[in-house]
Amino acid sequence: MNQNWLGILIRHLALLVTACLLVGLITNHYGASLAVGLGLYLAATLKQLLRLNHWLKHQKPDEPPPEAGGLWGDVFDSIYTVQRRDIRARDRLQALIDRVQDSTAALRDGVIMLDSDGNLEWWNNAAETLLGLRSPGDGGQPITNLVRNPRFFEYFHAGNYAEPIEMASPIQDQVRIQLVITRYGNNEHLLVVRDVTRVHQLEQMRKDFVANVSHELRTPLTVITGYLETLLDNSDGINPRWLRALQQMQQQGGRMQTLLNDLLLLARLEATDYPSENQPVDVQALLKSIVSDARALSGARGHDITLEVDANCWLKGSEPELRSAFSNLVFNAVKYTPDKGRVLVRFWQDGQGAHLSVKDSGIGIEAMHIPRLTERFYRVDSSRNSNTGGTGLGLAIVKHVLMRHRGRMEIASVPNHGSTFICHFAPAQIPQARNLRAARSVDPEQADGTQG
Ligand code: ADP
Repeated sequence: MNQNWLGILIRHLALLVTACLLVGLITNHYGASLAVGLGLYLAATLKQLLRLNHWLKHQKPDEPPPEAGGLWGDVFDSIYTVQRRDIRARDRLQALIDRVQDSTAALRDGVIMLDSDGNLEWWNNAAETLLGLRSPGDGGQPITNLVRNPRFFEYFHAGNYAEPIEMASPIQDQVRIQLVITRYGNNEHLLVVRDVTRVHQLEQMRKDFVANVSHELRTPLTVITGYLETLLDNSDGINPRWLRALQQMQQQGGRMQTLLNDLLLLARLEATDYPSENQPVDVQALLKSIVSDARALSGARGHDITLEVDANCWLKGSEPELRSAFSNLVFNAVKYTPDKGRVLVRFWQDGQGAHLSVKDSGIGIEAMHIPRLTERFYRVDSSRNSNTGGTGLGLAIVKHVLMRHRGRMEIASVPNHGSTFICHFAPAQIPQARNLRAARSVDPEQADGTQG
């Protein structure tokens, strides 16, 4: 209570008591006149209280409080002032929300607000055009029921929103959309959808161009290397001065063929998101054959190549793609490790999924190169590359194969002490026992033992 009001109240009560005492003096009934006076005061106070209650409950917008004098008038006015201030603040906030909603509604990108369970709360017009949402019918529905795409379902539930995903629009096949989720507030989700059809088309043109050029170059190159081979097979009559030139031409022709094959493989890998084959692959048998090829590659260089893999290790996916990725890593380890060096290939499964590690005691890679190794044609040292006969596409192929198998690669390396390339596969890539039984019945020749 404010000091002013306290004074007024005390003055009122003092006046009332004095008046009652005066009446008591005249009538000689002090007690009765005091009781009557206080009773009247109480009744007047209760009446104002009831008026206040009635006004608060049945107040029309902007209706001023009932007229009252004295302390009650002050109370009514104060409540009215606070109310008006709240209304003004609410109007200001509402205007701000309206402005934000208007500007978001005018955006060309779709914006969707989802609650913590992924149910739709609010979305703009562009979201309706790109995803086919219907207002207001779809409000409160789970987004995964409305955007029915297995990759989006997996992306939404995995909860790792560092990278956006791209897919065809659910209502128009030829429109490509990119979706990215941001968490905010109390684990609510903000989903932004962007039309990336044009960028996708340009990217597609680039891929098609590379694939077509590679394809077109293959035939003339086969003819040239074929003739070179014939010439070298009949080298007896050839002038010795040309023999060395022919041998070099054949060697470079071979490199070009490997390069074209790698470019075509990359183009194929980029064409779809997940491998068309999703069969259980026997990793032990696969790694045994890769390690045996690696020993042949090492030949007289005498590397010590060890394989550690448990029997019954399987991965879901495409066998040729996994073979290509794993052999790139193992062959690189041999290529970039000096003679008699060590290479250890390990495969294991745990709660986080399946893992392949290729560790070598080779030349290693400086830290600054590591983030760029999977770029096409990126080489740590180009002069080194021509000696090893690499195409510069090996790790790009590994990256794409891993992406298509829900995998990722981790690279650790210390210059002159060796490198470790680890491929991590999500638990979803380990086939169920039921599928394995089916796979085994097709391929009864099963490998066993733990050392390759
Ligand atoms: P390349 O055909 O040149 O081997 P990759 O894409 O397979 O192409 O590898 C890219 C580059 O990464 C290589 O040129 C090499 O410099 C480096 N690199 C790859 N694997 C290793 C390794 N095990 N040890 C050292 N350097 C490596």
